[in-house]
Amino acid sequence: MKGESVVYLVGAGPGDPELITLRAKTCIEHADVIIYDYLTNEDILRFAPQKARLIFVGKQGFSDHIDQDQINELIAQEAMRRPGLTIVRLKGGDPFVFGRGGEEAAMLHERGIAFEVVPGITAGIAAPAYAGIPVTHRGLSSSVTFVTGHETPEKDVASIDWAGLARGSDTLCFYMGIRNLDMICSRLMDHGRAPATPVALIRWGTMPGQETLVATLADAALRAREENFKAPAIIVVGEVVTLREHVAWFERKPLFGKRIVVTRASDQARDFSYALRAQGANVIETPMIAIRPFADGSSERILADGTIQHLSHYDWVVFTSVNGVNCFFDMLSASKRDARALGGVFVAAIGPATAQALADRGIDADIVPDRYIAESVAHELIAAGVGAGSAVLIPRACTARDVLPDMLRDQGATVDVIPVYCTILPEAEAPFSRLKRYLENGKIDAITFTSPSTVHNFSFLLEETVDTEKRGRLLADVALASIGPITSKAMRERGLNVSVESPIHTIPGLTEALQTFLTGKDRETS
Ligand code: SAH
Repeated sequence: MKGESVVYLVGAGPGDPELITLRAKTCIEHADVIIYDYLTNEDILRFAPQKARLIFVGKQGFSDHIDQDQINELIAQEAMRRPGLTIVRLKGGDPFVFGRGGEEAAMLHERGIAFEVVPGITAGIAAPAYAGIPVTHRGLSSSVTFVTGHETPEKDVASIDWAGLARGSDTLCFYMGIRNLDMICSRLMDHGRAPATPVALIRWGTMPGQETLVATLADAALRAREENFKAPAIIVVGEVVTLREHVAWFERKPLFGKRIVVTRASDQARDFSYALRAQGANVIETPMIAIRPFADGSSERILADGTIQHLSHYDWVVFTSVNGVNCFFDMLSASKRDARALGGVFVAAIGPATAQALADRGIDADIVPDRYIAESVAHELIAAGVGAGSAVLIPRACTARDVLPDMLRDQGATVDVIPVYCTILPEAEAPFSRLKRYLENGKIDAITFTSPSTVHNFSFLLEETVDTEKRGRLLADVALASIGPITSKAMRERGLNVSVESPIHTIPGLTEALQTFLTGKDRETS
């Protein structure tokens, strides 16, 4: 439908990407153009369709570095480009809370451009909530006021009624106030607020790197200076701050504040990152491998295509990775065939994730061993009768261990191994450079390895770019976590110390093992 273009003034929430509204997500998903400010978390832009044009118009922390008139002009021009466009004007938190959304709405009205407003969760509520501070509370606070702390003392702060604020509202939430903290505290005390009034500063609220500093009006400015506490932060003033002692929850998550590196290929990192984030971790995705299916016309592809024409020749097809499943089935559908090609063939999966990938393609695996390694699949296959006269197909990565085919061949089976993909070094260099910077600054708690290829590529990049002596230093305080014995072996071969090995060789298993390890380490040192 090609109606008029509509501008949506959308609140992006305070940072945690799950704290956006469903309406905001729908708008972003349908956007032709997204004009966005500095956002605490740009992750939500991943909801944007490929075709959407992303235009950044903000500067860190403050929305007034760039001329508001220019932004207005840009929004209007985009909307008038042609009918039927969805223009999303995306702002952190709520668009009308210190976001100049009101000015933009008025401008759109004046120009006769259609608009809608999508409220967002504002930082002044969300950051305290994640720090364990309810902004109102029966018996402690029956009012809350949002205040800008950004104004310069000479200018707009004069417009703030300090006497009214100091006495008139139980809880005060200041935005953009860190640079003026000294002045804010002094004015409140000058106008009668008790110096012992509790104050909380919450930085990067709702994000894995959230930091909270609790002080009083009398010493908050000094404490913030001592601890080099920086923006963006919300300043909460009032008795409700004391509730934090009982109510803090986010910062008590087992992996809160831990920076953990995920080295899996980016399209597979999501579940692992999600599991780690659910425990409060700050996840740094640094893909060490990329999955590359073989190109049409390559010799590997011709071999694989030939083989999958004759699947009914096999008694068993054994999948040893999710990638193996996906690349295999993609090839199958490229040749206009589907799961029915496996009719009459038994199927084995090395572990539950591989079995799930098969289930997604309509196949219920006949065997999933208890231990998710090649030896266990081999044992189970042999127990199921694979031996002399059996024909087995193993579609897998171009480099992999030969344990499985060898064990089956020893039993007299005919085994065809066909590579269906290769793991390669990802092209983008930025993630690894960023990881090195973090390592140099001692900011990484753990690096996780989920396959030998992640280990090899990590070691390769490190050896290429850092000399031996410095390598040792970089990794000295970092927990190196392995998903299982095969990955651990690769780590030891590359001179990496295995700090923790998951007894269950799955992503949930590794998440739990790492959590036990890191929290145990905390107890030792505290
Ligand atoms: N419209 C936004 C506020 C924009 S003003 C909203 O409704 O939240 C920018 C200020 O918001 C920052 O200087 C800081 O004071 C506050 N802020 C935004 N996100 C924050 C976060 N995740 N944690 C703490 N403060 C935040």
